[in-house]
Amino acid sequence: MVHDCLFCRIVRREIPATVVAEDEHCLAFRDIAPKAPTHVLVIPKVHVRTLDDADDASVVGRMLLMAARVARDEGIAAAGYRTVVNTNAGAGQTVFHLHAHVLGGRPLEWPPG
Ligand code: AMP
Repeated sequence: MVHDCLFCRIVRREIPATVVAEDEHCLAFRDIAPKAPTHVLVIPKVHVRTLDDADDASVVGRMLLMAARVARDEGIAAAGYRTVVNTNAGAGQTVFHLHAHVLGGRPLEWPPG
C-alpha cells in the first residue's frame, strides 16, 4: 500500500534526504533541523503511524538496532547518546510515521522537557 506520508516518500526517494544507513527493513537519515551535533532519524520502511500502533516486535527491534549501529558509526556511542520516540502530539510527534531520533555529540540534559 502506498502512503502519502513524508517519511514513506523519503523511503521511495521522492523527497531527498541524507541517508546514513539502510537495509531491507529500515532507513536512517539526518534530521533536517538537528537538535544536536548528531541527529539522525531511523524509520521502518513499512508505514506504522506511531509506537502506539506498533504490534510487530521485529519492526520496533530492527529500528532500535539500526539506531545503535548508527550511533556507533557516528562515533557517539561511547560518550553517550539518546534515542527518542515521540508518540502522539502531546509528546511532540509531528511526523506520523514511526521513527527513533538518535541524538548525541553534546551533553544531554535529563529529564527532557
Ligand atoms: P517528531 O517531531 O518526533 O515527529 O520528529 C520529526 C522530525 O522529522 C523532526 O525532528 C523534523 O525536524 C524532522 N523532519 C521533518 N521533515 C524532514 C525531512 N524532510 N528530512 C529530514 N527530517 C525531517
